[in-house]
Amino acid sequence: MRILVEDISLSIQGKPILQDVSLDIASGQSLALIGPNGSGKSTLLRVMAGHICADQGQVTIGKDRLCDLSPRNLAQRLGFVSQEAGTTDAIAVEDAVKLGRTPWLSLLSPFRGEDSRIVETAMSEMAISAYGKKQFNTLSGGEKQRVHIARVLAQTPQIFLLDEPTNHLDIRHQIAIIDWVIRQKSTVAMAVHDLNHAFACDRVAVLHGGKLVAFGEPSEVLVPDVIETVFQVAVHPNFAAQLNRPVLAFSKSAAAQ
Ligand code: ADP
Ligand code: MG
Repeated sequence: MRILVEDISLSIQGKPILQDVSLDIASGQSLALIGPNGSGKSTLLRVMAGHICADQGQVTIGKDRLCDLSPRNLAQRLGFVSQEAGTTDAIAVEDAVKLGRTPWLSLLSPFRGEDSRIVETAMSEMAISAYGKKQFNTLSGGEKQRVHIARVLAQTPQIFLLDEPTNHLDIRHQIAIIDWVIRQKSTVAMAVHDLNHAFACDRVAVLHGGKLVAFGEPSEVLVPDVIETVFQVAVHPNFAAQLNRPVLAFSKSAAAQ
């Protein structure tokens, strides 16, 4: 499902946080959102998820404007894992993942075998099947992160918005998440810091001071000029060659096991 972001601007307490941001992510594409701390990545994802309203501009999901969709309808189409995702502490891991099915349930359509299978598959994809009965609050940061991703997987949306999904994860689980993003038939937009992760996506968008300063294919966007200006770092002369031959081999590990 396509997600179209048009001319989004947002100020908080008079301070511009996002200015005229436009993005077009085709159905099934993956987009990496990069930029320094405070550049507006999380705010943009929250606007795209319908959690906060922009002052100007609009977001279109499939054929519908975000603001025309009911919360239930939106949750059936779009799953969001925020940067500081929380879950009630006193909850078992499998119950936390089951919450992902909520938008599909009603009095006439209670939780059934098919929902159980979806939950089991999501837990297996995130390698948390063994933790089903554990209390969420006893897990490590990385395990919690995988539970959050399993919860949105169980939601079976056509669009995933992930705010720093590889945060807290060890290298093996980082690779598993990025591999999963690459394999996805769904549309994925994620904020990331690791340029190798950005390079693995179909498109890269760069935010700087709330403005979109570059948007395109990784090889067009992840060039020394952009990186040096936006991140205020000196780029190694072998930068492009190194990114093209990442240390981590994505798409090799089939699952997060
Ligand atoms: P990033 O995710 O790129 O680090 P954020 O979107 O979290 O950036 O924040 C962008 C800017 O907006 C920051 O300067 C931050 O302080 C500010 N900001 C975000 N949310 C709020 C808020 N609720 N109130 C005040 N300022 C905010
Ligand atoms: Mg952020």
